Amino acid sequence: MAIELDALIATYQDLHRHPELGRQEHRTAGIVAEQLTALGYAVTTGVGGTGVVGVLERGEGPTVLLRADMDALPVREDTGLAYASTATAVNDDGETVPVMHACGHDLHTTCLLGAAAALVDDEAWQGRLLLVFQPDEEGGGGAQAMVDDGLFERFGTPDVVLGQHVAPVPVGVLGVRSGPAFAASDALRITLYGSGGHGSRPEATVDPVVMGAALVQRLQTVVSREIAATDTVVVTVGSFHAGVAPNVIPDEAVLGLSIRTADERVRTSVLDAVGRMTRAEATAAGATREPEIEALTSFPPVVNDAVACDRLRDAFAAAGRWIVVDPGPVTGSEDVGILADAAGAPCAYWLLGGADPALFAGATTVEEIRALVADLPSNHSPRYAPLAGATLESGVAALVTAARSWLG
Ligand code: ZN
Ligand code: ZN
Repeated sequence: MAIELDALIATYQDLHRHPELGRQEHRTAGIVAEQLTALGYAVTTGVGGTGVVGVLERGEGPTVLLRADMDALPVREDTGLAYASTATAVNDDGETVPVMHACGHDLHTTCLLGAAAALVDDEAWQGRLLLVFQPDEEGGGGAQAMVDDGLFERFGTPDVVLGQHVAPVPVGVLGVRSGPAFAASDALRITLYGSGGHGSRPEATVDPVVMGAALVQRLQTVVSREIAATDTVVVTVGSFHAGVAPNVIPDEAVLGLSIRTADERVRTSVLDAVGRMTRAEATAAGATREPEIEALTSFPPVVNDAVACDRLRDAFAAAGRWIVVDPGPVTGSEDVGILADAAGAPCAYWLLGGADPALFAGATTVEEIRALVADLPSNHSPRYAPLAGATLESGVAALVTAARSWLG
């Protein structure tokens, strides 16, 4: 019953062409449920919104949770691929936005469908497979929504949580890191209140555009001046909205921040600094109303279990088809850790190489490979385009290999 590669590629291209934003993954969930049902899994849809759970029981043995995320991003695709997305969707603010699988979650979903089929075929294991197709990873709410909807009470508590994320490193490379592997993520919305008026009479206003511009600059000093060089932190201002006309000073400016940290102590310092600088810039500008800082999403770092990672590395090495590396701490974030924390189970989450190895031809040193990786469009880029066929083969095999190393 193993799905042929051509069929997997067709599913992948179909999902890629029809991406859906977080909590809107209705079509994707439908395809997942249909394929899992045909394979003989006990399927439940609507878990934590649009999540899908597939269970396959086969006698006594451990419960292994394999997780894939299904959501896409508000990005206008610019890959030029024949199966590129032209989809749009309405976001939470009621705006129509372009949608693209710019993070590769279509690949994760397809790989898990391929692994689901391969594990049905493989009769040499015992235990319980718990397949989790999660919504809304990018919004940071999907894993928690599934947990809150009784994921583990309804479908059993896993002995291990396994999953993978595609990355712009060559196909055939897997990245496994014990301990803190993916950063904690905090998304904030800062609203600065000024006092608008005519663009010709700034003296009669408190200009929130200037206040916001000063704050953006000031925030660059959090990492460079307040955090030790040995700590891993990113502070990004990813959006800045203010005003609609050149000759009107607006009343407010709204900034969107993304903060990544690997350590709770450092996370607290960074959030404190952002709050202090925001209030201080408002005071400096003479604002009469305090700025507002809202936490949009917040999720913890992914901390991979050392014993589980050793087991995973041994299994990948024994398969003989991958180069397994330690990628170092990743400043990207993932909410898969919420599943493992809620289950009280060890987590082993790895990076899956998805770039065309031909692009790395001639590179012989780690520095040369790193330089080439830095030049490639990365996840979230409008030009991010993993090599479909070979990555799917590698990703299916990695999931099966990992699951089998727990299922005997
Ligand atoms: Zn992403
Ligand atoms: Zn992602």
